[in-house]
Amino acid sequence: METPRTFSIRTFGCQMNEHDSERLAGLMVADGLERAENGDEADIVIFNTCTIRENADLKLYSALGHLKAEKERRPAMQIAVGGCMAQKERGRVLEKAHWVDVVFGTHNLASAPRLLERSRAEGPLVEVLDAPDPESSRDMAPALYAVRETPFAAWITVQTGCDNTCAYCIVPAVRGAEISRPFDDLVAEATMLADAGVTEVTVLGQNVNSYGRDITRRRPLFAELLRALGNVEGLERIRFTSPHPKDLRPETIAAMAETPTVCPQLHLPLQSGSNRVLAAMRRGYTVERYLERLGAARAAIPDLAVTTDLIVGFPGESDADFDETLEVVARCEFDSAYTFIFSPREGTRAASMVERFVGADVIKGRFERLKEVLDRSALRRHEARVGLREEVLVEGPSRTNDATLSGRTRQGKLIHFPAGDAGLRPGSLALVDVVHGAPYHLVGEYASTVREPRHKVRIPLLSL
Ligand code: SF4
Repeated sequence: METPRTFSIRTFGCQMNEHDSERLAGLMVADGLERAENGDEADIVIFNTCTIRENADLKLYSALGHLKAEKERRPAMQIAVGGCMAQKERGRVLEKAHWVDVVFGTHNLASAPRLLERSRAEGPLVEVLDAPDPESSRDMAPALYAVRETPFAAWITVQTGCDNTCAYCIVPAVRGAEISRPFDDLVAEATMLADAGVTEVTVLGQNVNSYGRDITRRRPLFAELLRALGNVEGLERIRFTSPHPKDLRPETIAAMAETPTVCPQLHLPLQSGSNRVLAAMRRGYTVERYLERLGAARAAIPDLAVTTDLIVGFPGESDADFDETLEVVARCEFDSAYTFIFSPREGTRAASMVERFVGADVIKGRFERLKEVLDRSALRRHEARVGLREEVLVEGPSRTNDATLSGRTRQGKLIHFPAGDAGLRPGSLALVDVVHGAPYHLVGEYASTVREPRHKVRIPLLSL
């Protein structure tokens, strides 16, 4: 019998890409391939790329460069490049790295195994669709298989693409317009995951609040989706990312507050605290509206942890604009934040605002000042947890110390605590007393075990 060919997938970028890679892995396994034990020795290496982060293209081409010698040594090896960078670069990938076999876009992830097979006979292939066919995409998403990386926690993509026009963002260009998956398919997927013992699901979408806008006039469907997922027996934790502040509706906040399994955690990207900059970014809300929605969420969900995204140095951001951001950030008391230095993405509106680009030294200074304010509030928020008993979903041994376990509280905070002899395993639920708060994590002491892991050793391949 022929030995199965092996594959490895290298993922860059966001959770959406991570989950796309899980689905891609599922397709490859369904095609009879096996995941390689050692990625460098795989028969097929797939890069699932991202264009959001700075130097994404440099990272990709340097990774491809490293594989060139390997490809010369093993000509039967195949290299594929997919995802957002492939969508943008298309044939240029082959011009810059002629040893690549297949380039596929964000709209035809499901074609990757077929393209790889074809290219064995036909040579290098580029297939990048400009836009998904809405009907087939709706059908395609649930039809995809997924090999989940973590057996007790899973992502569910509810929507692809984005209908917004944020000036700095390449997502609408590379992922296309919003396409929502059917409501019933999502509930069925969540039920199947829960039956397989998954405890926690994270609902993914570029703008989850507008989920369903393209399939029905009945709104708001996202609030209904949260409530429906809340009724799925066995699911104990539901998270979602990201809601757009302009679309965070009272119905969603009410659904969060009234659905016990929806975790008290909200990622609400602010981006800037200056109305002038927000308008230039085309974000569609003002600082006042953001604060009003945040206030409503905190009033309805008293133990809410709030995280955010911020961009420093958007073109035209003045000292006064940045001071306003500092003020708003201090007021918001975020639990944590992802901070980004503006970097132009070719093909976006902001990339053409060259004459208003902010100097690198100025940005660096602003970035450090922002980090100080954010770290202070994160520390305060974490120190306020000391003395509380938190329910923790155990993820496994801490990266740096085998005698310590790491897990997440319901608020999504990382907590480390001594493993002791309680026999906790990844997927166990435990109660842990918080004894120390640091800017990026909590430290605790084991109190008791709520239950052992529920998941089967390996989640079966999913096909809905
Ligand atoms: S909401 Fe804005 S930042 Fe988010 S994906 Fe859409 S265009 Fe990009």
